[in-house]
Amino acid sequence: MRYPAPVQRLVDAFLVLPGIGRRTAVRFAYSLVYGSKEDAIKLAKAIEELHPNLTRCQLCFSYSEKNPCAICVNSSREQDLLCVVADDRTISAIEQTGSYKGRYFVLGGVLNPVDGVSPAELELTALHRRMQEATIQEVFLAFDADTNGEATVSYLTQELRKYNAKITKPARGLPAGSRLEYADEVTLGAAILERRNGKNNDLS
Ligand SMILES: [Zn+2]
Repeated sequence: MRYPAPVQRLVDAFLVLPGIGRRTAVRFAYSLVYGSKEDAIKLAKAIEELHPNLTRCQLCFSYSEKNPCAICVNSSREQDLLCVVADDRTISAIEQTGSYKGRYFVLGGVLNPVDGVSPAELELTALHRRMQEATIQEVFLAFDADTNGEATVSYLTQELRKYNAKITKPARGLPAGSRLEYADEVTLGAAILERRNGKNNDLS
């Protein structure tokens, strides 16, 4: 199927998004063709202004408008509690619950042998540096309850054992295989407040 060049360019642009096939890309493109010019410009402007206004926090590696980010510089957050997450979306989900007052560290993914994500691809060096520099009493490993999330938690538990910090993870109650990002606020909030640790810091 051929489309006018401006529409085709838009279709091709939408195709870079995850989970978007050609049919959906065409539907999106034509919804902008038929929609108001203002809405199309608003979308274009939001995309254009995304990267110039985002930076990565040098302390927690989250994307933020400022470096260091607002959470890292907030002195009312607990300094000795560090939550390690796979990506920024988990931070948003946890912040939404209002049940966590510590700081964060974004690992940049989870171990995934199928997709070839090994420890070398994750921000482990920076995490070790963070553990060495700060007096962390508790490391809360907030990962999805799926195979890769569990594997990452086991790996980090071994890696961080030497720091003598308590290692915790969300309380049971989140369904197996569930994504933290999609958990409802009440369930996730309770799983954070009742986070648990294993005997001798051994969660496996
Ligand atoms: Zn930060």
